[in-house]
This record gives sequence, C-alpha cells and structure tokens, in this order.
Amino acid sequence: MAAGTGDATAVPGRPGPMPWLRARLVDDWLETRTARTVVLDVPGWPSHDAGQHVDVRLTAEDGYTAQRTYSVANAPEAGRIALTVQLVGDGEVSPYLVETMEPGDECEVRGPIGGWFRWTEEMAEPVLLLAGGSGVVPLMAMVRQRVRSGSTVPFHLICSARTPDHVFYTNELFALTRTTPGLRVDRLYTRGGLPDDARAPGRLRLEDVPPASATPVPPRVYVCGPNGFVETATRWLLERGHDSGAIRTERFGPSS
Ligand SMILES: Cc1cc2nc3c(=O)[nH]c(=O)nc-3n(C[C@H](O)[C@H](O)[C@H](O)COP(=O)(O)OP(=O)(O)OC[C@H]3O[C@@H](n4cnc5c(N)ncnc54)[C@H](O)[C@@H]3O)c2cc1C
Repeated sequence: MAAGTGDATAVPGRPGPMPWLRARLVDDWLETRTARTVVLDVPGWPSHDAGQHVDVRLTAEDGYTAQRTYSVANAPEAGRIALTVQLVGDGEVSPYLVETMEPGDECEVRGPIGGWFRWTEEMAEPVLLLAGGSGVVPLMAMVRQRVRSGSTVPFHLICSARTPDHVFYTNELFALTRTTPGLRVDRLYTRGGLPDDARAPGRLRLEDVPPASATPVPPRVYVCGPNGFVETATRWLLERGHDSGAIRTERFGPSS
C-alpha cells in the first residue's frame, strides 16, 4: 500500500478534523525479531507530547484504505515521528509496517492524539511506568523525554515481556540506566527468563508492583499494554495503595 491523497480540510491549531499528513520512511531497524521501529519524516508535523499517539492510514492502489493507531516512540520533535510496531501475524496493517514498508515509501498520519496519557517535564511527581509487551512504546517516549529534558524526577519502568528476546529498546535502556540517575528499569518475563533470574516466569504479580509509599510522594502512574495486562496491573496498583486518580491507562488491543 502507498499513501493516498488525504481528505484533510482543517488547519493545525484551529478547530476541525485533524489533517492527514504524508509521511515518508527515512530510517528503520528491528527491535526484536518481530518488531520494527520505523522513522517517518512528516512535513507539517507540529511535534507531540510523550505518550501521545497517531492514526496511520494506508491506501492501496485500488483506493482501499486501512487505518490503525500507533504510539509515538520518540521524544517530542517537529517534522518527525518514530513508531515501533509489533507484528500481528494475521493482521492487516502491522505486517506492512514491520515487513514490507521500505525507505522512501509513504503512508499518512494524523495527530498528535491523546490529552490524558501524556508526560511533560513540568510534571514534578515521581513516575511509575508499567508496560506489557509493545505497551512500552509510549512509555519509552516518556523516558526519552525525561532524559532529554534534564528532568530529575524519579522514573521507574517495569516491562513485562514473554522472554528476554521480546523486550524492546534493550540496548538503549541498558545504556540510559547507567548514565541517568533516578532512572530504574526492571524486566519481568511471562514465559521464560534468564538462568539467574530470582523471579519465576509468570504474569504480573502483586509483589512486582511497588507500593505507593515506595517514593517520597505517590507517583504518577502510566500503564500500557494489552487489555488483560492493563486490568491486572490496575488491580495490583490499587491494592498497593495507589490512588485511582493517579493511574493513567492505555489499551493496545486483545489480551491474547
Ligand atoms: C492507543 C493505541 C496505541 C497503539 N500503539 C501501538 C504501538 O505503539 N505499537 C504496536 O505494535 N501496536 C500499537 N497499537 C495496536 C495497533 O493499533 C493495532 O491494533 C495492531 O498493530 C494490530 O493491527 P493489524 O492491522 O496488524 O491487525 P488487525 O487486522 O487489526 O487484527 C488482526 C487480528 O489480530 C488481533 N489483534 C488486533 N490488534 C492486536 C494487538 N494489539 N495485539 C494482539 N492481537 C491483536 C485481532 O483481534 C485480529 O484477530 C496501539 C493501539 C492503540 C489503541
């Protein structure tokens, strides 16, 4: 599929539907064997806040269109977005973004979307991030913005993935935790971990979730992942004393 012509009529910053913008793939790399980051140049992209997402539209030569939502993975930047897409084998859009789209190919995007699931460096509370699988994408944008902005608020990212081979951003997070005071990253595996892991593989457990009292003031909490992960994480967070008003969630799709 290639980009269509777009149907936008609105001017950015004015009321009305968001315009579709042409986006061209300028860089890409694999995060895991089944997930790819695509970097898109988007002329007219106004920048975004960490945590926001975009709609992506593909248009076939016969005019058929398919549209899906993807979180923006990079820290705020005008004119450019990075998306990290997990392959859904029988899916319509993710196989194109992960396996088929090549440098120079185009699609359309519109956004940024999302006013609640956002983090900016003006937010002074500690931050707790809980990611299930590809749910780490918008949380990684927050980590990147925290580092880039020079914010010193404590950040604790907990990533749940099937195995170590399924974890996104491994090298970058490894490097950032070495050089960024106050940034902590924990990984837990649902199917199989590393030989010396103290934790037995399995889905998120109550004891995996830090209590609200773990930081000097209760943290702002962001949870993102499949439905089942978000529901479980929210339940454990409430049991651990986090206020429901401090918990922001984003659901990516089926829990399977
Ligand atoms: C706010 C938001 C942000 C998102 N951000 C990202 C992101 O950063 N990276 C990313 O990879 N995905 C993200 N998603 C999921 C994405 O929008 C698509 O749902 C996903 O890529 C599958 O699309 P598809 O066209 O390939 O599959 P579809 O053709 O829509 O579905 C094919 C089959 O896969 C199942 N399925 C659909 N979605 C999922 C899913 N997410 N997980 C497992 N099975 C699924 C369907 O039930 C169906 O059986 C986000 C979703 C939302 C709502």
